[in-house]
Amino acid sequence: MYKIAVLPGDGIGAEVTAQAVRVLKAVGRRFKREFEFTEGLVGGAAYDTTGTPLPKETLELCHASDAILFGAAGGPKWDSLPAQLRPEAGGILSLRKELGLFANLRPVMVFAALENASTLKPGVVAGVDLLIVRELTGGLYFGKKYREDLPDGSIKVVDTLEYTTSEIERIVRVAFDLAGKRKGKVTSVDKANVLESSRLWREVATAVGRDYPDVSLEHMYVDNCAMQLIKNPGQFDVLVTENMFGDILSDQASVLSGSLGMLASASLGGRTALYEPAHGSAPDIAGKKQANPIASILSGALLLRFSFNLVEEAGCIERAITDVLNQGYRTADLLEQGKNAVNTVEMTDLIVKQILV
Ligand code: NAD
Repeated sequence: MYKIAVLPGDGIGAEVTAQAVRVLKAVGRRFKREFEFTEGLVGGAAYDTTGTPLPKETLELCHASDAILFGAAGGPKWDSLPAQLRPEAGGILSLRKELGLFANLRPVMVFAALENASTLKPGVVAGVDLLIVRELTGGLYFGKKYREDLPDGSIKVVDTLEYTTSEIERIVRVAFDLAGKRKGKVTSVDKANVLESSRLWREVATAVGRDYPDVSLEHMYVDNCAMQLIKNPGQFDVLVTENMFGDILSDQASVLSGSLGMLASASLGGRTALYEPAHGSAPDIAGKKQANPIASILSGALLLRFSFNLVEEAGCIERAITDVLNQGYRTADLLEQGKNAVNTVEMTDLIVKQILV
């Protein structure tokens, strides 16, 4: 029995998570695996019901589960709340911190059927299969920050960027371990020509690399990496980088796959890992059945692979998605001439059917 906490959250988060659960149930049926799903409140939905975006019961549910499937948190309705009550900071960021999820994995795969869907030329994106490993609980986003009024009437702001050797080492090891099971190449991304934190990052990455003789290591400055990601993304296997660089590069990399609705993510580090689509609650399309459920469904596949080591089952989901895309079915975000338009539920129906054939 595998216990999965399901936190649908807000907007399309709730819509796509329901579809991912349907797909996991289909996989359970096909492979005779028993998944137990328990829903919890998070984000704006939790705030409306309980007055907090991360209720105690939800946190307890997460701690008592083997894995977490998360939707999305946030929306205009809650934008004017104070920071700690907002669905994003008070919900998903707090949850990551509480669960010690320091490693964010974002695989960027380009399905052959979607080579034309990117704004980049098909020849550039064809065959791309890379993995961004982003440090998730340190760096600028969590450093001390403050404002100070100066005597001349201007304002001074300070954001601090701190990392320790052990924080760097643990995330770099995640990247090397994963690269060892893939194409055997790690690209460590930094700004060591300017930042002290990056110089330490580079030293630690080099030292860790000595423990992995079968994995090659290259260092790349973040500005060059941003350019290489769109010029020649096929050169990458696993990229590892600090929190803010990873935030920016992973959104940039989403363009390769054609739509944010295709990108899954896993956050690992603590006892219980969390899986979520890379996108947010998409208030512009919420409630219209237009959302692409594939990012959430692929997050379900990551959950099976990383938390339960159900590799065959995860592969079955990915193959079903490939087949349905090859058959020409597309949600609105990926629709092009000559393809069959389907909504959120219809896309999932097709994927479930494919799993059960
Ligand atoms: P978004 O990812 O929600 O949407 C960006 C654009 O992509 C929109 O046009 C949307 O329609 C489209 N899109 C996103 N997912 C899609 C899908 N599955 N299918 C089809 N189209 C899709 O980002 P945003 O608009 O900047 O943010 C909306 C809200 O979500 C905000 O409140 C933000 O704070 C929150 N957010 C939450 C998370 C999270 O919970 N982890 C992440 C990002 C944003």
